[in-house]
Amino acid sequence: MRGTNQRVLADTASAIQPHGCMIVVDQRWRRVMLTSTNLKRFLGQTPADVLGRSPSALLGADPISLLASRLGKGAAGRSSTATCRLETPAQPLHVTAHGMASNIILELEPFGNLTDNLADLVAGWGSRIAEADSPAEVLALLLKALRELTGFEAAEAYRIDDDGHLRRLPANDVPVAARNGCRDCSATPSRPPKNLFSGAIPLRMIADTTANPVHLTGAGALDLSRAALRAVPTHERCWLRQMKAHAALVINLQDAQRRWGLIACHGPRPCYLAPTLRHLLKLLAHTAFQRYALLLEREESLRRRQFLTMTARLGTRRQHRLSTASLLAAAKSCKHYFRACGIALVYQGKVLALGKRPAARTLQELGAQLDRHSPDTFWCSHRLSLTAIGKTCLPRSDITGMLAVPLTNESRPAGWLMLFRQAEEDQEGEASPPWSATDRQAAADIGRLLSTEITIWRTRGRCRRLYARNARLKHLAHIDPVAQITNRYRIEELLQAELTIAEHGDKPCSLLLFDIDHFKRINDTHGHDTGDQVLRQVALEVQARLRGSDHLGRWGGEEFLIIAPDCDLPQAVELASRLCQELLDISFPPVGTVSISIGVTAWQPGDTSYHLVHRADMAMYQAKSEGRACVRVAEARG
Ligand code: GH3
Ligand code: MG
Ligand code: MG
Repeated sequence: MRGTNQRVLADTASAIQPHGCMIVVDQRWRRVMLTSTNLKRFLGQTPADVLGRSPSALLGADPISLLASRLGKGAAGRSSTATCRLETPAQPLHVTAHGMASNIILELEPFGNLTDNLADLVAGWGSRIAEADSPAEVLALLLKALRELTGFEAAEAYRIDDDGHLRRLPANDVPVAARNGCRDCSATPSRPPKNLFSGAIPLRMIADTTANPVHLTGAGALDLSRAALRAVPTHERCWLRQMKAHAALVINLQDAQRRWGLIACHGPRPCYLAPTLRHLLKLLAHTAFQRYALLLEREESLRRRQFLTMTARLGTRRQHRLSTASLLAAAKSCKHYFRACGIALVYQGKVLALGKRPAARTLQELGAQLDRHSPDTFWCSHRLSLTAIGKTCLPRSDITGMLAVPLTNESRPAGWLMLFRQAEEDQEGEASPPWSATDRQAAADIGRLLSTEITIWRTRGRCRRLYARNARLKHLAHIDPVAQITNRYRIEELLQAELTIAEHGDKPCSLLLFDIDHFKRINDTHGHDTGDQVLRQVALEVQARLRGSDHLGRWGGEEFLIIAPDCDLPQAVELASRLCQELLDISFPPVGTVSISIGVTAWQPGDTSYHLVHRADMAMYQAKSEGRACVRVAEARG
């Protein structure tokens, strides 16, 4: 069998890195099926010596039975892994056994020069991370720990966005040299290739990109997808070459739901990290990630609280008029809350905006595009250059993120609230921080709140206009346009009301009807306009001499009616005489003096308004006929 089936697997997918060796055995641990061609360096035997033989004969019965029992006594489960220590004449080796679908892969790697206090060092970093108070601090500490524990010069953290893109996370206090990649390397670290975060590999170490891969020889299927030793494929090599790096460590981070992100460390010199160290680093990274996720959650809930306070404040503005200034103040809080560079309100053709945002015309165009693309619901992107809206409205803009929520007026689409973000540092100018679920929810809430505010505002405006129109109509209905006092219609209404009060309250009420003497002459001599002016001035002068509770109205032509509630006949006569007298002392330019004749009467039980006016009229005519410019009192009803 050795002669016929033996073959060398030459491609990197079935080759390994040379810092360890590999043995593939059948599922029942009976025979060695494949080995790496560098076996002799680690175990002192050639592949030809061991292929087809029992693995126990090669590695010893104890390690094999230990691994077999740890993997499930030969019945290897697909995802099981077991480890053990193997003593060899040259050095102790770390053995990792992967139970695969059709065989078992054994990876053998040196323990390396691990420092005695490694576990203490890692634990020390773990405690510092556990005390960190912000996500950024956790990240900065973790990256620093990884650099110090591995000797790599650069360490970066990435997060996988909803759209599957890898986004570099800013870690504020990482030294510049480290942040910008290796000291001897290119300026910006490039993102790790997709296979390093799309697959299921929790940790990947590339010890030396310049080292030749070691092939496997033997017979049987080979699946190295879970092998730590797997040779460096072209895309991984390219990634490191871009940064002039020769070694790397990538740790995948994931929570219960999904793959979350990864940490990538790299350096310009080859660097072998032993399995034990790798395991401890993985534990440290995962502990840090738990803390990071927790603090992130705490930050989000703090933001949520901030948001509630902000929206509550917006709500209290309802008592006041929703002015442009109050909208701008609200926009300012929104801008801060959403960590946006600018904010705009595009509402029924009007634009209200602050901060860094596109020009007003572009904002209007964005509104129109959003109406077309997403009329009823929010729209967001943190990579505008990849979207149709971004390509149309914001080509080559440094605004790379937009979250837009529709505004409605009485449930009809009326505009958009738009939040903008700029490219994040180190994101190669194309992406801004993504809009989180909290961001989107909060923006939708603000959109609804603003829509309500705007509806209330507009309804209030409409009510105000209606009120003004009604007041104007009332004025027109009640005021005489020439004399600018109560008109005939209204004075009749008032008379009716006052008589009802007099009747029910058994209170006095008097009526004075007066007429301007020789008014026709005034018209004839000075013209109609002067006549009008005299009518207005007489009304003004008489009104000025009445009590607040009295009513003066134009009865017709140059006749006026005074209702004097709570006023008996003698008081009414006194008032009439005073008016008659005082008017004579007033100058009415260019006419000179003007006199009036007054008829006075008082309400008597059983009087209707007709009776009362009629009596006053009679008295007034008596005054006319008895020489004018005088007061006559009506006879009491018999
Ligand atoms: P008497 O002393 O008997 O009341 O004489 P008179 O001239 O005041 O009374 P007459 O009834 O002869 O004339 C009243 C005039 O008032 C006639 C009418 O043209 C004028 N007149 C009625 N309404 C208006 C008005 O709104 N503006 C003006 N300028 N004149 C008016
Ligand atoms: Mg007259
Ligand atoms: Mg008259």
